[in-house]
Amino acid sequence: MKIICIGRNYADHAEELGNQIPDDPVVFCKPDSSILQPRNPFVIPPWSKEIHHEIELLLRIGRVGKYIDKKHALSYIDAITVGIDFTARDLQKKLKEKGLPWEKSKGFDGSAAIGKWVPGSLKKKNYQITLLKNNLIIQNGNTSQFIFSIEEIISHISKFFTLKTGDVIFTGTPPGVGPITAGDQLEGHLDGKSLLSLNIR
Ligand code: ZN
Repeated sequence: MKIICIGRNYADHAEELGNQIPDDPVVFCKPDSSILQPRNPFVIPPWSKEIHHEIELLLRIGRVGKYIDKKHALSYIDAITVGIDFTARDLQKKLKEKGLPWEKSKGFDGSAAIGKWVPGSLKKKNYQITLLKNNLIIQNGNTSQFIFSIEEIISHISKFFTLKTGDVIFTGTPPGVGPITAGDQLEGHLDGKSLLSLNIR
């Protein structure tokens, strides 16, 4: 399976990082080795001094698709949850300045935390995504604020990458990204329901 991520999909998050609103979805991948195994803590890697949390809505692909039309896109999803796209912001800044690919700062071991899947097709149009750090809400967004809709994301990605059963899409983070430190406890909610809980070491 593969993990495909969308960057800058909430206008106010693009602004907080000083990025322009993109014309097309910003797409990058994480390898399958980036998945943080359930119940494991996230261990801050020794080579970064600035790991950021990015809470996101996650989509799981239920069947193979290529050049998927927007009007059929939702039928390719077989489960949703929330996840955290852990990002080594210090390394990402260095790589971006040099115009180099981001992979090391986004796809390192443990950088993809995936919540408990809620199986089934999408039941409604918009979802509330919330991240709590030490019981305080630090990120809160609604998918109604997406620059690119779920249908547009799936259609766009599938022009370049054949989507396969079990692939996971990270749909971008709302504003409020920030650093984590050892001892923090993170909890991700989808519409107020806790689906992800992990400790930082
Ligand atoms: Zn992200």
